[in-house]
Amino acid sequence: MALICCPECRKRISETADSCPKCGYQLTPEIISEIRKKNRRALKTLGMLTAFFILAIFLAIFVAAISETPDAATKGKNLLSFRKQLVWTISKDIIKKSLKSPSTAYFGKGGFYPKQHGGNCVTCVDDDIYSVKGWVDSQNSFGAIVRTRFLLKMKYDGKTWELLETPLME
Ligand SMILES: [Zn+2]
Repeated sequence: MALICCPECRKRISETADSCPKCGYQLTPEIISEIRKKNRRALKTLGMLTAFFILAIFLAIFVAAISETPDAATKGKNLLSFRKQLVWTISKDIIKKSLKSPSTAYFGKGGFYPKQHGGNCVTCVDDDIYSVKGWVDSQNSFGAIVRTRFLLKMKYDGKTWELLETPLME
């Protein structure tokens, strides 16, 4: 036995009743079939809305999943290359200070390169520890240009950079 809503007082009543037990509204077969039709339409709309809503949620999750992953990876990569550049700049200043003639220092024109290119190189050896390997050309005390190779390690504590050990120079 199905229940319908009384069109007058909204009370749920049996669809076989002749009148609403609460407000006394007279129920004819025509009225009942009209109410049934309305109910079916409402259910259909509700079903469609629910389906649409679920679809929208899945779509949102899907879009978030495909757009977030590469974004985070790119951010990490950018941060790493930014830090490496920073370490390189700081290291150059440190090395310069220990040269006989800092103003003649030449570190190559391209900054630092990956190790396999045999050039200057910044490597992230631990989470916050960077190893800097490179060379610099500068004048010695006789005015001759000599190449000095250096190796140093820098640590980042979240705010400042710290030189871990005296740079190795030869
Ligand atoms: Zn009623």
